[in-house]
Amino acid sequence: MRKNSKSSLGVKLILALVIAGAVYVYSSAMFEREAPSISIDSNGYWNLKKPLKIDIDDASGVKSYSVVLKSKDDDNTLHYEQFITPKDSLIIEVEPPRSAYAMKDKNIKIIVQATDASKWNFLNGNTSTKEIELKIDKKRPELSIIGHSYKIKKGGAALVIFKVDDEHLKEFYIETNYGKKFKAQPFYKKGYYISLLAWPVTVDSFKATVIAKDYAGNSSKTYIPLYIKQKKYRVSNIKLSDRFLKGKIAQLAEEFAETQGVEDSIEQFKIINEDVRAKNEKLIHEITSKVSDEMISDFKINKMYPLKNGQVVATFGDHRKYSYEGKPISESYHLGLDMASNAQAQIKPQNGGDVVYSDYNGIYGNMPIIHHGLGLYTLYGHCSSVNVNNGDFVNAKENIANTGKSGYAMGDHLHFGVLIQGIEVRPAEWMDNDWMRLNINDVINNAKSIIDRS
Ligand SMILES: [Zn+2]
Repeated sequence: MRKNSKSSLGVKLILALVIAGAVYVYSSAMFEREAPSISIDSNGYWNLKKPLKIDIDDASGVKSYSVVLKSKDDDNTLHYEQFITPKDSLIIEVEPPRSAYAMKDKNIKIIVQATDASKWNFLNGNTSTKEIELKIDKKRPELSIIGHSYKIKKGGAALVIFKVDDEHLKEFYIETNYGKKFKAQPFYKKGYYISLLAWPVTVDSFKATVIAKDYAGNSSKTYIPLYIKQKKYRVSNIKLSDRFLKGKIAQLAEEFAETQGVEDSIEQFKIINEDVRAKNEKLIHEITSKVSDEMISDFKINKMYPLKNGQVVATFGDHRKYSYEGKPISESYHLGLDMASNAQAQIKPQNGGDVVYSDYNGIYGNMPIIHHGLGLYTLYGHCSSVNVNNGDFVNAKENIANTGKSGYAMGDHLHFGVLIQGIEVRPAEWMDNDWMRLNINDVINNAKSIIDRS
């Protein structure tokens, strides 16, 4: 009986050791069963200019890997290494193979195989394979300018028409010296694009370049050779009066969330002229930034003149510097043209379009905005009433609103704004037949005849 129980104890002990050993092997890092993870940094294209990056990761370390390139004709091993001291992870940069340059086949297969340093699999380790197909594209996008306005004036606008072509075109846009990217709209025939450009009144110089990129990372750029013309804008030094501060400013301060609990008139003015203005203009810029992707065959705009017998009471681009009792308080730019006629005069734009905003907007008061196409917008501030709704299409010469003094306005007038892709430009250009013919209509017509001939 005793001897029997002793031997069964020994068996149990051996069994426990075997189980413990198995558990050790099973849970030990040395015997991990997770195959290496392989990731290839690629979007499916390769221009054979930059090395192809491959990332291999494993808990027990990478023992060896291979990278094989295959085309229809060849079976070409690009890279092979064996590591004596395993590495947890490694990044391989595979240089473009010389043979790929002369390759007729435009597709290439990359096969990556990696084995880890685990003792699992009878000491062979775990192996994983990743295979991807890449399109070889060494060609830069074709880019050429078909037509452009002769010049651009500070605070003003210009037009450009260009051609872009690439089998794997990813994106193209117009880059400027001041950070803004203009988006071009398809124009007239496949592969041609058109965009209005704007030089903000607050920026000292202007430069624009068309950029095109394909998915393989090839890119082209072409500078738009516009003649750059400076223009001086007025600087107005305005003394704040108590009458103004206690009147209009006190009234606006009651209305805006930003001035709640602020008692000091100067502080109220500063907040309205800076914070509220910035918020209201941010909204305007957002609304007027959009450009359609639809192809347009033409772009026709009539000379703008929204207010019959309207007298100009303040010009575009005024740099207004406010002071109180000799001390500078705040500054702002006047980004529209102020026109006045009778009180509550009818506003009838000369161009139709889509109403994209018809609400109240802080210092701008009641403010409809119309999109005339090609990212060109007109804005009507301080209205007493608005007769259109967001989403409406309005015809030319329709009475869209009436002038007033809503928002930050002293007398009844219209604040007329013209914007291109979110940037205010000089309304005077769009109110000038000669400017519009030379810079817009002629450029479009010439470009069309060039496109027709090609
Ligand atoms: Zn104004």
